[in-house]
Amino acid sequence: QGGTVLVTGGAGYIGSHAVLALLDAGWSVVVYDNLSTGFTFLVDPRATLVQGEIEDEARMRATLRDHGVVAIMHFAGSIIVPESVSDPLKYYRNNTVASRSLIESAVATGVKHFIFSSTAATYGMPEIVPVAEDMPKLPINPYGTSKLMTEMMLRDVAAAHDFNYCALRYFNVAGADPQGRSGQSTAGATHLIKIAVEAAIGKRDHVTVFGTDYDTPDGTGVRDYIHVSDLAAAHVDALSLLIDRPGDSHTLNAGYGRGYSVLEVLDAVDRVTNLNIERRLAERRPGDSGTLVADNSRILATLPWRPQRADLDGIVKDALAWERKLTDIRP
Ligand code: UDP
Repeated sequence: QGGTVLVTGGAGYIGSHAVLALLDAGWSVVVYDNLSTGFTFLVDPRATLVQGEIEDEARMRATLRDHGVVAIMHFAGSIIVPESVSDPLKYYRNNTVASRSLIESAVATGVKHFIFSSTAATYGMPEIVPVAEDMPKLPINPYGTSKLMTEMMLRDVAAAHDFNYCALRYFNVAGADPQGRSGQSTAGATHLIKIAVEAAIGKRDHVTVFGTDYDTPDGTGVRDYIHVSDLAAAHVDALSLLIDRPGDSHTLNAGYGRGYSVLEVLDAVDRVTNLNIERRLAERRPGDSGTLVADNSRILATLPWRPQRADLDGIVKDALAWERKLTDIRP
């Protein structure tokens, strides 16, 4: 297969890994990013970088036409849950409204395939875990709502136009490119594995454990951590499926179907680093659920994709290697 894919947010964490997976699979890539939270050092030099706003529709349409783009992968967006609570309109603008504009640009220029970064936050606090795609979507924050609204637009546009999509609902994305070409680079991390590897290399002096009284085996929160390179590979498989079966659209959980607790993650970091990182036990973080694990039977039945990097120690090792490298790139 070949052709050009436009990747919004391709200078960000997950987007840059998708760019690598696309390039490695033989696609041409245009990264479209406003660099508000992305970094040029994450963009592979084989890709063309366009610095622009998604809502600059003239620029977007010209880019789609000039490069003969056949599909869009849409990673750009805002992703901080507490910020979405304090500034919801930012989330409806950057996620929902920008997506509306991008989908319209796709339809207007004849781009027929669209892959969307959705989230397990669309489920809210599911009553049943592992959670499956057809279970209730009751987001408990504007971030989840802003993403769910985009899923709904895609559904309706696919019914009305010659256009199909795959929405991937990400669980807890972690790790970094095993070849060291990209990784999570944003300052002020809030995600557990990133925080733990920062502590491992001395950027922090402890890790806070938020909540020890959940209804889980050790009382701490359980999540389905997925390696970012596996997640990127799922996007490339989804792209082939959209092209091969233009009449079908898909909404797929992107997770491994297994969970690790906060303490299990911290044990893995200690094991990998041979350290004893200080843990400070604390109250629950508002809005956190106890367990969030994917039922991944649909993605396994839909795509040839199979987990390759589910090993927790491997995820931690890759995250740690990138964290060390980042210190050299940006001390
Ligand atoms: N967590 C923690 N300490 C931290 C960051 C996260 O105990 O410094 C916990 C959090 O309460 C949740 C799990 O780790 O149970 C994963 O949180 P993260 O922020 O990585 O992702 P989320 O599941 O909230 O999207």
